Amino acid sequence: MEKRPVPKTSPVSEFFWEKAARGELWLQKCQNCSQFIFYPRVVCPHCFSDKLEWTPTSGKGKIYTYTVVYRTDLDAFTDKLPYIYAIVELEEGPRMSANIINCPLDKVRIDLPVEVVFEEIAPGLRLPQFQPHRH
Ligand SMILES: [Zn+2]
Repeated sequence: MEKRPVPKTSPVSEFFWEKAARGELWLQKCQNCSQFIFYPRVVCPHCFSDKLEWTPTSGKGKIYTYTVVYRTDLDAFTDKLPYIYAIVELEEGPRMSANIINCPLDKVRIDLPVEVVFEEIAPGLRLPQFQPHRH
């Protein structure tokens, strides 16, 4: 199993991680202004409503921006070099940071269609990452 740092869960994000463990990407959707939000919160950052409901997403999006990481001081990531770190814009609107995996470095580009894929990084903990979307 990997030695890399594990996200801390909190009561507000627990549901997110439960669904991720099953290979599903769920986000909160504001019942007042209809926007999807990420990361999990208690109130909507757009309209400050607390009427947020967990909603399944398509798991699809595109690369908003990215960088290729060739060097790191973090031991847990040295065996992954070089790797792609990106901000992915989901179809539903929110942006998430993630690694782009299963993608040759010469194929990565802004606006590349991607889909979520879950990497198990600790027992029972699966991290949403993205890979090029296969049509
Ligand atoms: Zn709202």
